[in-house]
Amino acid sequence: MVPFVSENLFKLSPVIYEPFLIEKAMWDLVARAKPRYNPPTPSMTEDLIIDLHSDSHFMQQAMREAHKAYAAGEVPVGAVVVHEGRVIGRAWNQVETLKDATAHAEMLALTAAQQTLGDWRLEKCTLFVTKEPCPMCAGAIVHCRPDRVVFGCGDPKSGAAGGWINLLEANPPLNHRCDVTAGVMGEESLALLQSFFREARQRKKMQDS
Ligand code: ZN
Repeated sequence: MVPFVSENLFKLSPVIYEPFLIEKAMWDLVARAKPRYNPPTPSMTEDLIIDLHSDSHFMQQAMREAHKAYAAGEVPVGAVVVHEGRVIGRAWNQVETLKDATAHAEMLALTAAQQTLGDWRLEKCTLFVTKEPCPMCAGAIVHCRPDRVVFGCGDPKSGAAGGWINLLEANPPLNHRCDVTAGVMGEESLALLQSFFREARQRKKMQDS
């Protein structure tokens, strides 16, 4: 920033620079008289403001679905579909409950959303799912055409949104291409899955012994 009174000014005769000094003193007084406003820092506001349209808000709703799966003894994955800020489909993984290998959370949430909209095209929709979609779900997502997919933890072994392969952002694309956001509440989602599988291993150990 250029100083109000240039240092070179002091090399001039006092008659010339004196008016500048008076003006500077006046502005200093004005600046001091102004009430100071300190905008709140993000750390002050993040606990107070809940953004009802944020990715983490909707991912929390998907996490709620994942907890329902956990309680039912299913692999804890949950999903919600959001259309213009409103949840229009929600589901949790129900493979064991329905005895249906295709009953992944995403598949059921997509079907629910299509029923709500009365259309198989999920335009202007975002799918939130707690774990990276598998190839079956990614295929279904491409067919339903939501604009975006937001997922929690990645799946390097069988994920089809960049973990193993990427069917959602394929280039050249399939018949549709989605924007993908990864890692929203990823740690919470992973911790829930790890806890589920740890408990399942312990149960099996006890049964075997
Ligand atoms: Zn799947």
